[in-house]
Amino acid sequence: MPPIMSYAVIGAGPSGLAAARNLQRFGIEWTGYEMSDGVGGLWDIDAPRSTVYESAHLISSKGTTQFAEFPMADSVADYPSHRELIAYFRDFAKHFGLTDGFRFGTEVTRVVPAAGGGYDVTSVGPDGERTEHHDGVLVANGTLSEPHVPTFEGTFSGEILHTSGYKSATVFAGKRVLIVGAGNSGCDIAVDAVHHAAAVDISVRRGYHFVPKYVFGKPSDSLNQGRPLPAKIKQAVDSRVLRMFTGDPTKFGFPKPDHKLYESHPIVNSLILHHLGHGDLSVRADIERFDGSRVVFRDGTSDDYDVVVLATGYRLHYPFLDPGLLRWVPPAAPDLYLNVVNPDQPDLFVLGMIEASGIGWQGRYEQAELVASYLRARTERPHAAAAFEGRARGPRPDLSGGYHYLGLERMAYYVNKDAYRSAVRREIEALGVAR
Ligand SMILES: Cc1cc2nc3c(=O)[nH]c(=O)nc-3n(C[C@H](O)[C@H](O)[C@H](O)COP(=O)(O)OP(=O)(O)OC[C@H]3O[C@@H](n4cnc5c(N)ncnc54)[C@H](O)[C@@H]3O)c2cc1C
Repeated sequence: MPPIMSYAVIGAGPSGLAAARNLQRFGIEWTGYEMSDGVGGLWDIDAPRSTVYESAHLISSKGTTQFAEFPMADSVADYPSHRELIAYFRDFAKHFGLTDGFRFGTEVTRVVPAAGGGYDVTSVGPDGERTEHHDGVLVANGTLSEPHVPTFEGTFSGEILHTSGYKSATVFAGKRVLIVGAGNSGCDIAVDAVHHAAAVDISVRRGYHFVPKYVFGKPSDSLNQGRPLPAKIKQAVDSRVLRMFTGDPTKFGFPKPDHKLYESHPIVNSLILHHLGHGDLSVRADIERFDGSRVVFRDGTSDDYDVVVLATGYRLHYPFLDPGLLRWVPPAAPDLYLNVVNPDQPDLFVLGMIEASGIGWQGRYEQAELVASYLRARTERPHAAAAFEGRARGPRPDLSGGYHYLGLERMAYYVNKDAYRSAVRREIEALGVAR
């Protein structure tokens, strides 16, 4: 098998580990760059770009999330904490001999196409700045680290904190706290805050669908696995189940959702409605403006707060790359085939740029398997590789699974996990170089 030399992997989170593992499986040499001092990505709470907090646990269950070739131990909880997860990733890297392939404490600052092909990768690490040539680059620097910070009218005189900077609820001790946004992190942090704060409110722009972590005594995402139902039927069946288990969120003060179940990322949280039902926190309308310590809401009400927590999400961020190399006109997402491939840059790949309910790390692993298969096919099955490149230039496949996703910026790279994984697996099969 002729060696394919020198691919760079940027990031040692789940996607970067999947990249390294698949390059290894397909006999492709690689060098990893990771700015923190170990593997695990944002699941290492001490890593510089980590956005997990002390109470963070998976919201998808371990069975639907883990790497298929490396299942978690039976002793690990259904919804493990970040502590169990970082141990899992360290074990994964050690088991497959990947750890030593990464240069830790090394941040990639620039990736530019080189004159003779490939890319020059500039990084800053323990030995200072250096630029090295690689035949290609797999970008796996994560999607949930760069805060999306909206602007508000007026000035708030208290403390404003984005979820990216939140670690522990002790910062709320005795304070009046307003959480802005009821996404998964917002709801987790609201639940944390009720145990410490003097008062907690959560301000929302729209209604959400709440999925409990368990239904019928099983992790809710473990039901109906492997047999995807058509979108309309799944929405009807699951909405009924949710009505039975969580009831109507409008009864707890949330607005009625402006979208059907699965048309936006569902909120997997069994405790937020519980605490609303106990009067531990209240739902407030969208923010109109700040006025000193006072926050004025769009429904005309207002209140005083000490801390505002912006649970307003994250934005894609590839600061070391010219956006044109990713066919990216911000603020939407890079326009890549299967969210991975730019046919104009056949040695530059993006991994992990995917948001989907239940895609798990195996979905990210399959992205990496696709890239490694394509690189290997270029020498072993050039016709199959050329056909793949042709499809990458063609119209984008429908990855919605029949769901009508909300037309929001954060949904620009959202896919249906079943439609997406089938499309990726079809390409891996067509490339025909399985390992
Ligand atoms: C609170 C929370 C709960 C979540 N729950 C789930 C869940 O239940 N299920 C699920 O599937 N996903 C969940 N996620 C999503 C999570 O992003 C993924 O599980 C996973 O971490 C994505 O892996 P990644 O490797 O793509 O990115 P990351 O884990 O973000 O890793 C990216 C890595 O790249 C490194 N890096 C970045 N820039 C550079 C650079 N310039 N040079 C060198 N290194 C760089 C970073 O240091 C980091 O180690 C959750 C996320 C959060 C924040």
